[in-house]
Amino acid sequence: MDTAFILEAAQAVNQAILSHEADIESLDREIGDGDHFINIKRGCATILDMQGELAPLPPDVVLQKIGMKLLSTIGGASGPLIGSFFIAMAKSVKEHGADQLPQIATAFAAGVDAIRQRGKADVGEKTMLDVLIPVSQTFTRLTAEHVARGEILATLQGVAEQGMLSTRDMIATKGRAAFLGERAIGHIDPGARTSQLVIHTICDLATRRN
Ligand code: ADP
Ligand code: MG
Repeated sequence: MDTAFILEAAQAVNQAILSHEADIESLDREIGDGDHFINIKRGCATILDMQGELAPLPPDVVLQKIGMKLLSTIGGASGPLIGSFFIAMAKSVKEHGADQLPQIATAFAAGVDAIRQRGKADVGEKTMLDVLIPVSQTFTRLTAEHVARGEILATLQGVAEQGMLSTRDMIATKGRAAFLGERAIGHIDPGARTSQLVIHTICDLATRRN
């Protein structure tokens, strides 16, 4: 994972988020406060604005700068969570590198763990972590088993989708949806949906790059 890939991924994710506006908005209107699309869109725009500054820098510095910037630009509960994801990934990439898939899996796991700690949440609480934790665990396991790259990327897309769908029948215990109790049942969590979309998009990009 080099800087060019991170910046290409940012563009692809921005496109994917913009083309799912109605879907994402309606999910956060149903069980949140309707701002999730705006928050994520603002995060994407912020990264794209930084492209010129980031292009000559090594990937760990790029991730660190993105994380710091997102902490102050994305609002809501998701801003600090996503910011801390990038900062923890940056630290891991600095320490272990990101040339090979196992190192990327390690960095991703560090990022997800930072969200888990900051959000004080885990699997089963109807949040983005219902996508991110199973994807991270599968990513780590499949790279350790030396599964072929294409198969890993396709599997992660499937796991992300399952995780996203699993939030539909959950009661939320974290975030705004927690106030709804049983009324949240039947609705997919917006953060889980955007996380799935991001993972799907980045795996597609990585597959095409192979
Ligand atoms: P806000 O909840 O402040 O309106 P957003 O709408 O941008 O912020 O983000 C909402 C999403 O953030 C939720 O759908 C959920 O996935 C995620 N989320 C909320 N609280 C937590 C938490 N404590 N841990 C992990 N994710 C959370
Ligand atoms: Mg919201």
